[in-house]
Amino acid sequence: MLYTLTAHDLSEKLKSREISAAELTKAQLDRIAKAEPEVESLLTVTAEEAIKKAEEVDKKLARGEAVSPLAGIPMAIKDNISTKDVRTTCASKMLYNYVPPYNATVAERLFAADAIMIGKANMDEFAMGSSTENSYFKKTKNPRNTAHVPGGSSGGSAAAVAADEAVFALGSDTGGSIRQPASFCGVVGMKPTYGLVSRYGLIAFASSLDQIGPITKDVRDCATVLSVISGKDAKDSTSLSSDVPDYLGALTGECKGMRIGIPKEYFSDAVDPDVRRAVLDAAKAYEAMGACLVECTLPMLDYALETYYLISSAEASSNLARYDGVRYGFRAEGCKDLEELFLRTRSEGFGQEVKRRIMLGTFVLSSGYYDAYYKKAQKTRTLICRDFARVFENVDCILTPTSPCTAWKFGEKSADPVQMYLADICTVSVNIAGLPALSMPCGTDAAGLPIGVQLIGGRLRDDVILRAAYALEQNGKGGR
Ligand code: GLN
Repeated sequence: MLYTLTAHDLSEKLKSREISAAELTKAQLDRIAKAEPEVESLLTVTAEEAIKKAEEVDKKLARGEAVSPLAGIPMAIKDNISTKDVRTTCASKMLYNYVPPYNATVAERLFAADAIMIGKANMDEFAMGSSTENSYFKKTKNPRNTAHVPGGSSGGSAAAVAADEAVFALGSDTGGSIRQPASFCGVVGMKPTYGLVSRYGLIAFASSLDQIGPITKDVRDCATVLSVISGKDAKDSTSLSSDVPDYLGALTGECKGMRIGIPKEYFSDAVDPDVRRAVLDAAKAYEAMGACLVECTLPMLDYALETYYLISSAEASSNLARYDGVRYGFRAEGCKDLEELFLRTRSEGFGQEVKRRIMLGTFVLSSGYYDAYYKKAQKTRTLICRDFARVFENVDCILTPTSPCTAWKFGEKSADPVQMYLADICTVSVNIAGLPALSMPCGTDAAGLPIGVQLIGGRLRDDVILRAAYALEQNGKGGR
């Protein structure tokens, strides 16, 4: 089946004219029609635009023009990434009718590379959550077992790729939202170094942590998508001006001599035994390939969750202040004055989890509590960064589980927010330190649900983790 193939396989077929882009897009839309009633990964399907774009790509191919490796490849974009003239909701009632007048830089770059957007992916409201159950619109199912959540907050993006509804997808990762759903759905997901990929047009959750990245069927596709979306953007002042390395060139299949850190804090009893076994098996596979495993320690992990939830909520409370019903989005009807308009718009427009974060964030930023919470979290942030810097003096990358557990059943954690937050323990430190990290499949648990291994790299060493991930995949580990 065409829709089961990777982008690099499809690209070969397109370039040799064995298939046409229009044919591929139609096959993809048929697949969506079949899988979507069960999986519900997409909030909007852009069928007409996709077919039109595919026909344009076919014309380019017919003229023998040089095309990008993503030309003609159907993909989905998370619904917090702005797409011109296509509804972008953040899975919130607050933005149920919002149609951006411009494209996010990442969307612009994918379109310029002739990738074909087939739809916008479901997510936790404003990217807050770990299961996609916080979407205002629908519950996305895990395609590996539909009684289980797909992870979150990019659950729609990961489920779309796992269910073959898209060849690849973009997600956003503030504290694990690309890596954890990729791990739960058995696909590859990468959060690049902070600043490598432009955030222009990404609807902000926590600006100092947010980063956009690829969710793909294999590591080669991940490297390809990253090459297309990364690099300096004058529209994002936090985007880095450093040159983009040759990510595809990093995929040698070799990892001999690579030093891989195994931090003991990530293998405690809090991690499911099945997860620990599969991730340590991946470590052993590296050793067998000639890499060197180095025991290391990241003691500040104890403070990572608190630091993350304080900083991210503080930033969210400020970023979400703009939704007031005045300029765009949802507006409460029949208000008698401005104050009632603000109050009712925000009360009715935001879901429970978003309100919880706004309240927590406003609290930790308020005078009297700022020093005790927000400032302390910033200090801990520095200590977490130093922890990583010390370990990276001696290793090339760090190997950990992506999540302490596999995908849970619907409703299992949604009654207790702290239980939900605890599930983020393995991913949040990476965002706090601005480092690149990738999750790839490394086995399944007793129930057959996917397990993900996380590879963390030094700052701007996105190429190193891609190299390590590719070597593991070539070794027969990490396939879907
Ligand atoms: N689960 C985390 C949260 O709820 C991470 C979300 C994200 O990365 N966007 O904040």
